[in-house]
Amino acid sequence: MAKVIIIGAGGVGTVVAHKAAQNHAVFTDILLASRTKSKCDAIADAIGTRYGNKKIETAQTDADQTSELVALFKRFRPELVINVALPYQDLTIMDACLETGVNYLDTANYEPKDEAKFEYKWQWAYQDKFKGAGLTAILGCGFDPGVTSVFTAYAAKHHFSKPEYLDIVDCNAGDHGKAFATNFNPEINIREVTQKGKYWEGGKWVVTEPHEIHKPLTYPNIGPKESYVIYHEELESLVKNFPTLQRARFWMTFGQEYLTHLRVIQNIGMARIDPILYNGVEIVPIQFLKAVLPDPGELGKNYTGETSIGCRIKGLDKKGKELTYYVYNNCLHQEAYKETGAQGVSYTTGVPAVIGAMMFLKGLWKKPGVFNVEEFDPDPFMEQLNKQGLPWHEIFNGDLETD
Ligand code: NDP
Repeated sequence: MAKVIIIGAGGVGTVVAHKAAQNHAVFTDILLASRTKSKCDAIADAIGTRYGNKKIETAQTDADQTSELVALFKRFRPELVINVALPYQDLTIMDACLETGVNYLDTANYEPKDEAKFEYKWQWAYQDKFKGAGLTAILGCGFDPGVTSVFTAYAAKHHFSKPEYLDIVDCNAGDHGKAFATNFNPEINIREVTQKGKYWEGGKWVVTEPHEIHKPLTYPNIGPKESYVIYHEELESLVKNFPTLQRARFWMTFGQEYLTHLRVIQNIGMARIDPILYNGVEIVPIQFLKAVLPDPGELGKNYTGETSIGCRIKGLDKKGKELTYYVYNNCLHQEAYKETGAQGVSYTTGVPAVIGAMMFLKGLWKKPGVFNVEEFDPDPFMEQLNKQGLPWHEIFNGDLETD
């Protein structure tokens, strides 16, 4: 049906390549391109072995250079680019898409390298350009953002006349056997979880100290886990697209061991994102740290346990009565590894990216402009979640609080 380019050969790229190859009736021609070609080749080899004669092409590219991307896109002529490199590359890839008439999908919003600040404003500014070119850009199509945004849209469409309180809850109850490791790119992850907390209430943003608000929440099949309010990017688009929301928060579980390591990393300056001079060479501490930490893509082999991510929404149902609704998915790390060779966090990000790409290629999520996923029809996406390995469940009038 269509040609796609996947950019990025990390944990998420591995899952995207596997899932796209599994759905070869939709993704007929796949090119996997990244900074290090040998990583693309290793993924392509694994796919060749697993799925017989299903071949994917590979290429080296520096996605910070629009001109390199333009040359690659002109050679392969894809209909869609799935960007699972880093948030720093979002704008260069969007520029190359505009120059070559290619549609775009990503899983994380743009961040400038020198400022740990993620906001949609840079990508939303491309709205007129994509619209004018008749191209679609789908933003934030991983799990969170991504599935959590679709869950919210699904709840608003089918269950609520007025959604008022949204809590996105993200628990990783897995054990990878390492003293400290991050589940996706360490640099991006540490930048995200060490910043101040922020949530939406009464029409404005409320800022907290990092990890200031916390309490145990109960996750299906896992039980109570200490959960912390952090800022997460989908809140920005969800409060805009669902203006009846009076409060929107994002909670994530952290173990004490993880938080202690994080505190030490910050206290000794290893989380710094500004360059320092070391032996006459400029290095960025957090980038050096990434080089010595376990590679998230390699964690899968010994990972046990599961993730549980969902949306708890309170408000008025279609008949105007109060409703508490919880929709969630649990994903087993071992199952993800068995299927794709990557752990659950990469899996829960990569599978929705492929479903989003499928939605576009089937013409279900195709309109000119730049969109967050909750702006599309959630139903066909929800149907595919069940088919592609991320089944979801609903609880009506239950709750997550233990007290
Ligand atoms: P990794 O660090 O494992 O992989 C990133 C890949 O991008 C690597 O292969 C890397 O190359 C490549 N890359 C980096 N810079 C460039 C460049 N300039 N040109 C070409 N390729 C480049 O990250 P993950 O796979 O864990 O995460 C991928 C993306 O998914 C991130 O943007 C992350 O924020 C997002 N994410 C989204 C989630 C969601 O639910 N929405 C959850 C988790 C992650 P090399 O191998 O040479 O380093």
